[in-house]
Amino acid sequence: MLELDTIAAISTPMGEGAIAIVRLSGEEAIAIADRIFKSPSGKTLSTVASHTINYGNIIDPKTNDVVEEVMVSVMRGPKTFTREDIIEINCHGGLVSVNRVLQLILTNGARLAEPGEFTKRAFLNGRIDLSQAEAVMDLIRAKTDRAMNVAIKQMEGRLSNLIRRLRQEILETLAHVEVNIDYPEYDDVEEMTHRMLIEKASNVRSEIQTLLQTSQQGKILREGLATVIVGRPNVGKSSLLNSLVQDTKAIVTDIPGTTRDVIEEYVNVRGVPLRLVDTAGIRETEDIVERIGVERSRQYLKEADLILLVLNYHDELTHEDEQLFEAVRGMDYIVIVNKTDLTKKIDLDKVYELASGHPVVTTALVQEQGVDQLEEAISSLFFEGNIEAQDLTYVSNSRHIGLLSQAEQAIEEAIVGIESGIPIDIVQIDLTRTWEILGEVIGESVHESLIDQLFSQFCLGK
Ligand code: GDP
Ligand code: ZN
Repeated sequence: MLELDTIAAISTPMGEGAIAIVRLSGEEAIAIADRIFKSPSGKTLSTVASHTINYGNIIDPKTNDVVEEVMVSVMRGPKTFTREDIIEINCHGGLVSVNRVLQLILTNGARLAEPGEFTKRAFLNGRIDLSQAEAVMDLIRAKTDRAMNVAIKQMEGRLSNLIRRLRQEILETLAHVEVNIDYPEYDDVEEMTHRMLIEKASNVRSEIQTLLQTSQQGKILREGLATVIVGRPNVGKSSLLNSLVQDTKAIVTDIPGTTRDVIEEYVNVRGVPLRLVDTAGIRETEDIVERIGVERSRQYLKEADLILLVLNYHDELTHEDEQLFEAVRGMDYIVIVNKTDLTKKIDLDKVYELASGHPVVTTALVQEQGVDQLEEAISSLFFEGNIEAQDLTYVSNSRHIGLLSQAEQAIEEAIVGIESGIPIDIVQIDLTRTWEILGEVIGESVHESLIDQLFSQFCLGK
């Protein structure tokens, strides 16, 4: 195990929680805690059994003041998350006293943990591999149950296991290539090797391709489907937004680092996380085009994964409506014909024609009618009605996607090489490269700087 200093952080969310936990990890964790802990019976934490919870007070050793009444968990490595000794101090006195406890720990020998440093230690000490560590990060950020499931599956090592198996296959193939190089005089060995090489390499390629195919869904699950609601003024955009939001308990967020006027709301539609973009535009000015201009709204449309195009049942189709159809051509969209409680003035045949195969749903949003059908249309559009199929190993992390694409290319080059009869030791290079790239997904050949960068994205205290 690596020799690392002792780190500490508040590991529960900031704010008014009932309990807050200060966590320490490292060789000195128990000794540092003992400096500020006093139990009624006088026992010290260094003498208690591992994985026990101990009642007592945190005292300021300089003044002997009682700072906080606490329960302290003592967990000795290696059977801990970081594989180091871990102390968790459960405080219940709110933010101020938790911070005092943390300050005392820091003045008694621990260092404040960097964001993600506990998880980084778990990785460095071999407790988890890199893709599992990234899954922890996704878990922290998971916005919906479904994204949470994907993250948990990944954490359980599904992706890692699959990658390991692929690497093993490549290694075995390389071993056969060695035989071929060592015994070139046996013609039948060469013959067999050639056929087997193609077969094995094609196999690896198709598994990588399957993984990449899930990545689109994986990204959607992780980040939410960027969804834009468009339509003429007064057709019912705000009403649609509200009924989606009401139905599903939305989370409103400002996007950090971008203009503050863009507000996103996350809603969970039958397991499909929608990220409704620019809800500020819909809520406040009623007209996204008027507010941000034609060019920028075109840009929004381009970047959207899904468009909800709203029309008015109680009004004739206008030139503007047709322009909207034009603008969303080639994208995933659903047409919503709203206000069916009023008399029909729209030409529905014309709507179907314009929609050319895209789903058309009729609603009367004031009466909350048709929302079910809309939700059905959304979920079947993105998971082909198949969203309960939980068995796929989703790749949802852009670093993984990038590496898998590189691996696909490398194995492709190997296959082309074998087929065109290139010397076998050149093919060997491509196979080795594939093996190395796949190793990077699970962190078996990663540089330190990359590791630092990844772990700095974690929340503090995780
Ligand atoms: P937006 O301008 O596209 O955002 O449209 P709003 O959602 O603000 O709705 C405009 C008006 O139409 C409001 O007075 C709504 O109450 C009304 N409205 C929305 N949906 C319906 C509907 O299904 N039937 C009827 N009769 N009125 C609706
Ligand atoms: Zn509105």
